[in-house]
Amino acid sequence: MLDKRDFYINGKWVAPAAANDFDVINPSNEEACATISLGDQADTDAAVAAARAAFPAWSQTSKAERTAKLEKLLEVYKARAEEMAQAISLEMGAPQNLARANQVGAGTWHMGGFMNAFKNFEFDRPLGDHAPTERTLYEPIGVVAHITPWNWPMNQIILKVIPALATGCTMVLKPSEIAPLSGHLFAEMIDEAGFPAGVFNLVNGDGPGVGSQLSSHPEVDMVSFTGSTRAGISISKAAADTMKRVSLELGGKGSNIIFADATAEAVTNGVGRCFRNTGQSCNAPSRMLVERSRYAEAVEQATAAANATHVGPASEEGGHIGPVVSKMQYDKIQGLIQKGIDDGGRLTAGGLGRPDGLNRGYYVRPTVFADVTNDMTIYHEEIFGPVLAIMPFDDEEHAIAIANDTPYGLTNYIQTEDDAKRVRVARRLRSGMVETNGNGFAQGSPFGGYKQSGNGREGGVFGLEEFCEIKAVSGWAAE
Ligand code: NAD
Repeated sequence: MLDKRDFYINGKWVAPAAANDFDVINPSNEEACATISLGDQADTDAAVAAARAAFPAWSQTSKAERTAKLEKLLEVYKARAEEMAQAISLEMGAPQNLARANQVGAGTWHMGGFMNAFKNFEFDRPLGDHAPTERTLYEPIGVVAHITPWNWPMNQIILKVIPALATGCTMVLKPSEIAPLSGHLFAEMIDEAGFPAGVFNLVNGDGPGVGSQLSSHPEVDMVSFTGSTRAGISISKAAADTMKRVSLELGGKGSNIIFADATAEAVTNGVGRCFRNTGQSCNAPSRMLVERSRYAEAVEQATAAANATHVGPASEEGGHIGPVVSKMQYDKIQGLIQKGIDDGGRLTAGGLGRPDGLNRGYYVRPTVFADVTNDMTIYHEEIFGPVLAIMPFDDEEHAIAIANDTPYGLTNYIQTEDDAKRVRVARRLRSGMVETNGNGFAQGSPFGGYKQSGNGREGGVFGLEEFCEIKAVSGWAAE
């Protein structure tokens, strides 16, 4: 059993103000694998005070100094990548290959994207030729609280911490209490990279505790949050009294629009994409919309793809999917599968209970519902498990209407070989991202949502600007 009870505050590992143990559960076997502490107000206050005290000096360091520290951090992250993969795999159930290549790899990828964007990032910008003596200054916003989820833990932490460090902010990170081992290891890496005391602090805790304390804290200037829309709303309310900036990356209910002329593999790839990370991705294409002429064939293909999806423990190598993260998620998903059945969805693969041969661990059967309609719960609710809903559409307008018929607006997907149609439909979708024909996004592209999927943009230059205040100065003269 790992002991990870300490917090990282002001450059040191310190015991919590009051003992409040919390077990981290390995979702592959339901056994406790580590103990952390849930912090309280005194821990939160100490971490925020350390960040506040470190801000004047850190915010005045040069771009070159901060770049050097970030380069060192990237070096440490790469050197300890295997440790990180094991921490993530243990805490949230990502199988070995996924943990190494995607979970840890996403961190390396985003760090690279930020380093590239930061090279060309101008903190002092001329307003334009019409105003030669005016400057627009980008300045670090101050003390930032980062509150992160368990599903892509290092991806989320790096998308927040790196741009905040680069722009000169100081910070307190509160990772998910369900998957805190990767965050703990990341704090060790920060320490090894030699950032000044107080620039980065880590306090573990839950939402009602440290999460709310940070959100309402008068000495915190900004909350950068990734997680559920429910928690995003609570955080926004808690932050309102102190007028802090709140940047939100929330849930999703992405559609994958498959037109009749899409490639032969479009359906199978779409199922794989939905089930990736055991369906626990905010940008999962969990609603597959198929043009009617291809619908019956698509249901067959999706069913076959789900039946061929292997489920197994995170400790194993291979292309299988692991368990979902917790008993709470397992129960929630089972409830939604039951609801899909009760609401009249046509279950063509998977269903209730665990896959054959897996009796312990939070394993869910890869599940497909066909003929899903907009009066069903599974049409609207984010399931966050390996459950796909398929429905037919008649034409372009109909597909756009279904895709936009959700309070979410994170990522939608389009599959068609018709260039003009692809671009036309992409323009009409109310989401922060539209991925087409399996073309992944480049390093530094903006990640974020419309509507109830949030208001932030992470990654590259967009992510750097999130952590800046903007100041206009008139009568500017060369220094
Ligand atoms: P969650 O909202 O339950 O928890 C996320 C974090 O917020 C945790 O650290 C938790 O302790 C904290 N928290 C919970 N309630 C809080 C409160 N009232 N005040 C302050 N902090 C609080 O979400 P989760 O279950 O960890 O993650 C899954 C959710 O995250 C899904 O809805 C998913 O779509 C979303 N997500 C979004 C993105 C994105 O970029 N848009 C990325 C990954 C996950």
